[in-house]
Order: sequence, then structure tokens, then C-alpha cells
Amino acid sequence: MPEHPEFDHVIVGAGLSGLLLARRLLMAADAGRLPGAVRIALVGPVPDPAQRVTFAHWARRPTPLDDWSIGAWSELQVVDHAGHARVVGLDGYRYTALAWDRARAALRQTLAADPRVTVVAERAVGVGGDADAAWADLPGARVLGRWAFDSRPPFVDPIPGAQPAALHQAFRGVWVRTGAPTVDPAAATLLDFSADDGPDLGFAYVLPVDERRAMVMAVRMGPSMDLPDPLPAVARVVGSSRWTIEAEERGVTPLPGRPAPRRTGQRMLRIGARGGRVRASTGYAVTRVLADTGAIVASLSRHGHPFGIPPDPRRDRALDAIWLAALARERADLEPAFLALFRDVPVDRVLRFLDGGASPVDVAAVVAALPPGPFLGALGALARQRLIR
Ligand SMILES: Cc1cc2nc3c(=O)[nH]c(=O)nc-3n(C[C@H](O)[C@H](O)[C@H](O)COP(=O)(O)OP(=O)(O)OC[C@H]3O[C@@H](n4cnc5c(N)ncnc54)[C@H](O)[C@@H]3O)c2cc1C
Repeated sequence: MPEHPEFDHVIVGAGLSGLLLARRLLMAADAGRLPGAVRIALVGPVPDPAQRVTFAHWARRPTPLDDWSIGAWSELQVVDHAGHARVVGLDGYRYTALAWDRARAALRQTLAADPRVTVVAERAVGVGGDADAAWADLPGARVLGRWAFDSRPPFVDPIPGAQPAALHQAFRGVWVRTGAPTVDPAAATLLDFSADDGPDLGFAYVLPVDERRAMVMAVRMGPSMDLPDPLPAVARVVGSSRWTIEAEERGVTPLPGRPAPRRTGQRMLRIGARGGRVRASTGYAVTRVLADTGAIVASLSRHGHPFGIPPDPRRDRALDAIWLAALARERADLEPAFLALFRDVPVDRVLRFLDGGASPVDVAAVVAALPPGPFLGALGALARQRLIR
């Protein structure tokens, strides 16, 4: 079997987590924080350049993704089922929309131009390792390294209590352009429950980037992988103007019911969604991937291995389990829970809860604000399953 030369880091999957990890490894090496050579193999197919992908996240400090920001807001709207909007100030956080398709292309190009990086534009058919090496298997070749980081899309784990066996977050969004300047670029919307009345938990979010352009994304959380329809939510955004669709974005991510094992061998670590970095109950990943790739590089620098990363707090795992059990049982009734969070809890606590960095005090504030009905039912269901098992 032909073999590529040996690398220090074999990164499988050149998406959000793989590209960020590669970039951060090189930056740490340039700053003298990683000893020795840093030879990286980045294994993953070339993305479709026509595919638009926009991510949004919040941060208090600059991030390595800010170069690709297409909009940033210090307040957000939350809109209830009846169409009443509440404006929520973000208390020092900025909510940023990011042109991930452009960031992805630029990062890939920069990495490919670096002599320390070998880009292998293929799909791995397996990732493995033993005491001496880790590897990615390609059809007909093996890429060998000291460490392997696996970010291939994750398995869909069954969620206890869900019917059928798994929950998903399905996204479908449109970029709309209006004929007249009728879009309010200050009015970004995090949650709009007014345009969805299906059996699942459904909402839209809106990223208005100027007076004529906005992305309206419909999101559905539930067992179905069918894509939701963003068009009912467009009317609130465009006002009276005529409008056209410039581009579409879509995708489905599993909401995993169990924490993913991170370390899968002596030299292998799962990263990104495969490593559980998508918050199971909310689908947010960008902030967690930023933190995780930083922690991996810090561990390599400090310990000489990538495994010295903080585990997810037990309270986050418990909250995810309860939230997902509630979602599985009473999806359509969770709107009041989201509205209560943004009405009754200080916003910095809510944002940390949504991303997974909540302190015990944050969690207590969130739990106190949630309407007890769906969550007590979910707790009961989880307790019964534990007893039966
Ligand atoms: C439509 C959509 C909108 C989202 N919006 C947000 C948002 O606004 N905010 C937020 O925080 N999160 C959002 N997310 C969730 C999250 O940010 C993404 O899922 C994130 O991309 C996860 O990063 P990743 O590196 O694990 O996966 P990806 O970025 O998907 O990267 C995985 C890579 O692996 C490659 N690959 C697949 N198979 C193989 C193989 N066999 N070998 C090698 N490579 C392979 C793929 O081509 C891909 O490049 C959204 C997700 C979707 C789908």
C-alpha cells in the first residue's frame, strides 16, 4: 500500500473544526508554543464553492473568525407566536454573522500554501491508531501521523424517549434582496416563533446585513429530517417591498442524545460535531469549536499530547438530557421556555447556557425561569428509563 510521509497531526475533515485546529496549530508553532516541527495532513474533500453557508455566534472578545464577519449586533429580537417582538440587549456580547463559505475557502487556501501542510482532497474511509501512530485510511493509501483528529460527520445516536429514535435540527434559509430599502439592518432576530405552527419546535432567525439584504433561516427541532420552509418568516423582514431570493442554505444536524467519547484510542481525538462540540440541546457549535481547538493546542503545548482538554461539566450534560427529553415529548410546547429565558434571566447567563459554558449560578437561574410542565415531565421520563434499565 503506498504511504504518504509521516505527519505530526492528521486532521480528518476540513470543515469548521478541522480548519480551525490546523490554523491554530500553525499559529502556536509560529509563536514558539509548540516544540519541534508541525507537519499537518488535512484530509477532506474540496467543498462546493457555490454552497453558501452562514453561521452566527456571540462573543465578548475578538475571535479568529472576525475577518469574515458580515454583520454584528449588540441587541437581538425575540418574537413570540403572536408576532410580539422583544428587544434583548446583549450586555457586552456581540452577535456576529459569519460568511463561513468564504472563511472556509480562505482558510483552506492559506493552509494549502503553507509548506508545513499537505492537503489531501479525499474522503477518509477509516481513522485508526495504535501505541505508535495514528492514521487516516484513504482508498489505496494510509496517511500516518503522531496524532489523528477526526471530524467526519457524526453518527446519529438514539435519544431515550424520542419517537422515532433520534432528534435532528433541520435548517433551510434564504438570502432575500428587496427592491426598496425596507430591511432594518439593526433588527437581527434570534428566535421568531410567529411563522411556524407545525408539530415540532420551529422558529426562524434573521440576519439583516444591510437595508436590502437579509438571511431568513427556518429551523425545526424534532424527529423529522424534512427541511422547514423559511418563506412564511420573510414577510416580517421585507415589509412592503418586492423581493427576490439570491441564495439558499440548508442542512441537517443530529442532536446527539449521549455525550460523544472524545478520545478513541491512544492517539486519536474526535473534534467538532463528532466530538460532541455541537451543543446537543441547541445546535450551536461555533463558540464551542473555537474554545475546543484552543484547548487542544494548549494541551499539546503544555503536556505534549492533545488529551488535556476540559471535560463537559456534568450539569451541562444533565441539562442537555432534560432539554432533549422535553423536546422529544412536547416539542411544540417549548416556545414558552425559550421566551421565559430571554424575559426572566440575565442575557449573559442565557448565552452561556446556550453555548455550554454556564456556571452553577447560571444554571440555577435558567432552571428557575423554565416553565415546570414540560421539564418535570421530561425528568419523570428520564427517571423511569433509568429504573427500567
Ligand atoms: C445549515 C447549518 C447552519 C448552522 N448554523 C449554525 C450557527 O449559526 N451557529 C452555530 O454555532 N452553529 C451552527 N451550525 C452547527 C455547526 O456550526 C456546524 O455543524 C459545524 O460545521 C460543525 O463543525 P465540524 O467541523 O464538526 O463539521 P463540518 O464543518 O461539517 O466539517 C466536517 C467536514 O468533514 C468532511 N468529511 C465528510 N466525510 C469525510 C470523510 N469521510 N473524510 C474526510 N472528510 C470528510 C466534510 O466535507 C466537512 O468538510 C449550523 C449547521 C448547519 C448544518
